Amino acid sequence: MIRERHLFGPGPSNPYPEATRALAEPLLGHLDPEFLRIMDETCEMLRTAWGTSNARTLPLSATGSAGMEAAFVNTVHPGDVVVVAVNGLFGQRMTDVAARCGAEVVSVDHEWGQPVDVDRVLAAHPSPAIVAAVHAETSTGVRSDIAALGAGLRAQGADALLLVDAVTSIAGIELRADDWGVDIGYAGTQKCLGVAPGLAPFTINDRAFARRVERPRSWYLDLGMLGGYAGEAGVKDGGAGQRTYHHTAPTAMVASLHAGLTRILDEGLEAVWARHQAAGDALQSGLEEMGLELFAAQGHRLPELTTVKVPDGVDSAAVRRELLERHGIEIGAGAGAYAASVWRIGLMGRNARPDAVLLVLAALRDVLGR
Ligand code: PLP
Repeated sequence: MIRERHLFGPGPSNPYPEATRALAEPLLGHLDPEFLRIMDETCEMLRTAWGTSNARTLPLSATGSAGMEAAFVNTVHPGDVVVVAVNGLFGQRMTDVAARCGAEVVSVDHEWGQPVDVDRVLAAHPSPAIVAAVHAETSTGVRSDIAALGAGLRAQGADALLLVDAVTSIAGIELRADDWGVDIGYAGTQKCLGVAPGLAPFTINDRAFARRVERPRSWYLDLGMLGGYAGEAGVKDGGAGQRTYHHTAPTAMVASLHAGLTRILDEGLEAVWARHQAAGDALQSGLEEMGLELFAAQGHRLPELTTVKVPDGVDSAAVRRELLERHGIEIGAGAGAYAASVWRIGLMGRNARPDAVLLVLAALRDVLGR
């Protein structure tokens, strides 16, 4: 039960039992046909999780931040205008990464706790090369409307690529990359997918791939070379499975992601979204009944990551410590300027269930004396 200590953090290591067990299986070689099968199936299941038919959908061997880096380093040509919607820490990180890739960044800043204002983002520049936004801002617990952003770009007849961070949204809330017009997306394994951290599920469509930087500054994240590694050829030619060695795949991690995705798709993606929504709703009502105030704007709250204002006079760190030490529950501090004034409570993957909600509410009542 030691893992229960981390069940409620914003980045919890809460693998499904299947995903954890897969890590303990005998290791396969990275070119073993059995592993290649697992890799192909993983890419296929990721397509479902993303809501895409993109051939170039694969787990990058690195964390979500490397997914972000791959997205920009492969698509930003020096001097390109990149509009970034910033409503939290991860939007800020995008501006830094894009600038390092040589972009002229137009940052559309929002008050933290608010969703992305689609009209402001669309009006920020007449002809950006890329428009980027975070679907689920983990630093604030806010969901932004990527469907509306994609539709707005289409309505404008804009040529810009839409680049989306889905680290905390994939397998937690509705995500339909193709329907919404997402050209490039990256995610992480450690949130609602419920797998250990370490892979970045990535997707890019043909339109974005055709515009890619021919020789990106990163060798490791060069998507032009990675396609063969992940069997992109195999997908396209009906399974011949031509592979080119690029780097040694982290076979145990891919097997673990395969197990996690299998479990999610067995339950059904929409059922998984509904389970997250029900758990988030129950937690958020319970917190309000306790007299606590939520931080994220109403109507835009993520079910999988709830932000709560620390009540006046309460020592945020002391409460978190007590929850961890006495109840074995980790909740996160706030991010950035809200480090001491906001708590972040994750209900992701396996933890998005009623008993986990009751447990965290009871523990908070106990610690806060409410
Ligand atoms: N984007 C979002 C929305 C995140 O929540 C995170 C991590 O929490 C990242 C990007 C970065 O991912 P990682 O920490 O796996 O590098």
